[in-house]
Amino acid sequence: MAAPPAGVARVLENCRPVGMLSLRLRNASDMMTNPAPYPIGMPGKPWGEAEIETWLSRQTVKRSYKADVLRVIESLSSRYNVVQYGHLDHEPVKYPLFALKSRDWRDPLPCALVTGGVHGYETSGVRGALRFLDRHASAYAGRVNLVVAPCVSPWAYEVIHRWNPYAIDPNRSFRDDSPAQESAALLRLVAPFRHRALVHVDLHETTDTDESEFRPALAARDGVPHEPGEIPDGFYLVDDLEHPQPEFQQAVIASVAKVTHIAAADRRGEIIGSPMVARGVINYPLRTLGLCASITDAPFKTTTEVYPDSPRTTPEQCIEAQVAAVCAALDFALVH
Ligand SMILES: [Zn+2]
Repeated sequence: MAAPPAGVARVLENCRPVGMLSLRLRNASDMMTNPAPYPIGMPGKPWGEAEIETWLSRQTVKRSYKADVLRVIESLSSRYNVVQYGHLDHEPVKYPLFALKSRDWRDPLPCALVTGGVHGYETSGVRGALRFLDRHASAYAGRVNLVVAPCVSPWAYEVIHRWNPYAIDPNRSFRDDSPAQESAALLRLVAPFRHRALVHVDLHETTDTDESEFRPALAARDGVPHEPGEIPDGFYLVDDLEHPQPEFQQAVIASVAKVTHIAAADRRGEIIGSPMVARGVINYPLRTLGLCASITDAPFKTTTEVYPDSPRTTPEQCIEAQVAAVCAALDFALVH
């Protein structure tokens, strides 16, 4: 198995929630040169059950999955088949898992998968998936079977975090015998059509809280030093290192560029520690890393990374960027 390229372990580890435990009492230069230890656990020692319990006790519900997601799904139920594909064990009633499928499903057609909220705090992915269904999906009727899972990790949506309640990142857990029930449930959902999927778009964000909270928390959890990184200002995509589709990725970038700005490479020619291989694109070994975009055998797959904290964009533009990415991906895949 190939070792992940430098920086790969950080890539989708970059998305952020509310920096409740962040280092905000320290000034920026202190943080760069001498980061404070994360307030849970001992430096150099991976978390055990006690530390995870402490971490969990600090998480609070900040928004409602029912109000923001389930009600919208209900409003779409007259146009799509709504399928419950699981629930989260710790609160099964509060956190059912839903996907929406084309009403006019026909087996000979190719399948298109859209996933949002694999990292629950990445709001525009959830809203973008729902908006695509509401406003754009009908244009693809009769050409493709759609499966949209708009909020894969609903507990994390509510507490605004990237992990699940067991301090596991679902987007490192898409593999057999997954330790994350969010990932295992999605794998079961796609199993019947994974071999005939044409396209998969997995909707994410890279946020400032990735650097202020989530990456420090990840390093603390694993008992390793936190190495500060840079958050790119703008939208970018993650392609599959093992099966790259550069023309497909550029078609998506070109469409999103009409909505929001595309990230530039940093002074090392990288985005989030990986070489920028084309405008706004980096490559990851998706399956090796257990990333969501690896869960089908679709020839066309991409992971979007919207940057909602930029002064150059708005929450609305971020949602529209996700929608533009989904439409461009489907448009390209259906003619290639
Ligand atoms: Zn993410």
